[in-house]
Amino acid sequence: MTPNKTLFVAVSVDADDDGYDRHSSLPGEKVSWTGVEKGIPLLIETLAGYRDSGGCPVKYTWFVRCDAQLKQLYGNEAHLFEQFEPLWAERSIVGDEIAWHPHLYDHDAGLINDNVALSKLLRNSFSAVDKNKYNIRTSRLGRSICNNSLMFVLGELGIRTDSTAMPGKVKKDEFNMIDWSSTPEQPFKPSYNDYRVPGANQTGLLEVPMSMISTQASYDRTPIKRYINLSFKNDLIERALRNFVRENDLLVSIMHPSEVVIKCEHPLLSFEKKDVKRNMDAIMDECLRVDKSVRFITINEVNSLVEKGVINAANN
Ligand SMILES: [Zn+2]
Repeated sequence: MTPNKTLFVAVSVDADDDGYDRHSSLPGEKVSWTGVEKGIPLLIETLAGYRDSGGCPVKYTWFVRCDAQLKQLYGNEAHLFEQFEPLWAERSIVGDEIAWHPHLYDHDAGLINDNVALSKLLRNSFSAVDKNKYNIRTSRLGRSICNNSLMFVLGELGIRTDSTAMPGKVKKDEFNMIDWSSTPEQPFKPSYNDYRVPGANQTGLLEVPMSMISTQASYDRTPIKRYINLSFKNDLIERALRNFVRENDLLVSIMHPSEVVIKCEHPLLSFEKKDVKRNMDAIMDECLRVDKSVRFITINEVNSLVEKGVINAANN
């Protein structure tokens, strides 16, 4: 197979609260949104100078939190959509995608294992969003939690593209129930019988997995696969990032807006905008070096590019 000479880059951001990485807020600690309020404008400013081979700026896919925790705190699942409405409206106008990001777990008690309850949470969340205003076609389920019935409900709700999968990731504990071990790295139409793989009976939507690279932080005994987060420390991921760019035709990155405004010492996350820039520089520079063009796209745009055969999909 001749290598694809274009790299499609989808920069996605989970608009989570500042403490997204903790299982629940500490006693007395309030849920805060400095990342959404200040981190998003700062991120946009940080990457403002980049242009793809067609001269177009970075296109973002913003996954906006919308779920029972927000209803509990503010009386409405769609609080974040409404609170920051001018931001989402402005970003839609410039060509970004506004997407749906429900957390289907209890932020205090942990995992919810009842499928009926999960489906109800998903439907409640979706009905709270103003679909006409935001034209929601794309979802990402929090903590990468998914199962056959949730994937089916997403398709039924009219979601065309989902980006929840983390190929190769397995994590099962009090707060996580993830097994994407069998999932391909390319986009695929999930099987009705097993949401993690392509299959004959399909749920109607396209799964666009997050791109995974091998990383080794100081606390890892051996390298492990993690999603491409543009705020990871550049010196830890640059080599793997460049390898990924050379070998693939689609790069789906993820980050959280608090990662450019919160000050924190972390072995893997830099919490510095300079690393976001260095990582984007590495992507652009590697494309230039191997004579590959770059095109910035939204996650939903992967759908038509797969249909046209421009981006390779995984088949069963
Ligand atoms: Zn989230």
